[in-house]
Amino acid sequence: INFASLGLSSTLLTAIEQRGYNHPTPIQAQTIPIILAGHDLRAKAQTGSGKTAAFGLSLLQKILQHREQPKQVMTGNQIGVLILVPTRELALQIADALTDYASTITPRIKIHSVYGGVNINPQMLALRGGADILVATPGRLLDLAQHNAVKFSYTRTLVLDEADRLLQLGFSAELNQILELLPKKCQNLLFSATFPPDLDQLIATLLVQPVQIDC
Ligand code: AMP
Repeated sequence: INFASLGLSSTLLTAIEQRGYNHPTPIQAQTIPIILAGHDLRAKAQTGSGKTAAFGLSLLQKILQHREQPKQVMTGNQIGVLILVPTRELALQIADALTDYASTITPRIKIHSVYGGVNINPQMLALRGGADILVATPGRLLDLAQHNAVKFSYTRTLVLDEADRLLQLGFSAELNQILELLPKKCQNLLFSATFPPDLDQLIATLLVQPVQIDC
C-alpha cells in the first residue's frame, strides 16, 4: 500500500516524499480513506504511530477539495477545522507538522496554534484573518471565543487528539462548552491512546455512527 492509493493529491504526495515518508503507517493506511469519505472516527493510537499525519494529511486533502468549490472563505475570525489538544507542546508540534505537510500548497493554507500561558493579544491579532486549521488547547480557545476572536459558522471538521489526556487534565467542562459553539453537522474525529470509561459520554455525544479503528 502507498500514499497515492489512499486518495491524496499529487501536491501532498510531493510534500510526503520531501519529508521522507515512504509508506503509510497502519493508522494512516486505515484512517485516511475513512476521513476522506466523511465518516466520524474513533481511533485508538499511541504517540509514535503516525497519527498526526493520519489526520493532518486527510484534513489538508479535504481543504484542497473544498477549495475547488469555493463557497466560504476563512476570513473574519472564521475557523475551518479545529484540532483540540491537551497541551501547548502538542499544539506547537501538530501545527509545525501540518505547516510542513502544507508547504507545497498554494495559495497558502492558514494554520495557527493557540494555547494558554502566553499573552492572548498576538493570538487575537493573528486570528483576525481566520484560519483554515486552528490547533488549540481548550481553555485558551474559550477565552478567544469570549473575545469574539474565533467564529465557527463554517467549521466543518473537529479533531480531538489525545482525548484521554484532555479528560485526565480536567478539560471536560471546557470541551462541552466548545462543542456547544460548533455547527451540529461537523465531521468529528477522536484519537486516544486509551479508552477509559470516562470517555464514553464524550464519545456518545460527539460521534455519529463512528468507524472504529484500533492500531
Ligand atoms: P506521531 O505518532 O504523529 O507523533 O508521529 C511519530 C513520528 O513518525 C513523527 O516523527 C513523524 O514525522 C513520523 N512519521 C509519521 N508518518 C510516517 C511515515 N509514514 N513514515 C515515516 N515516518 C513517519
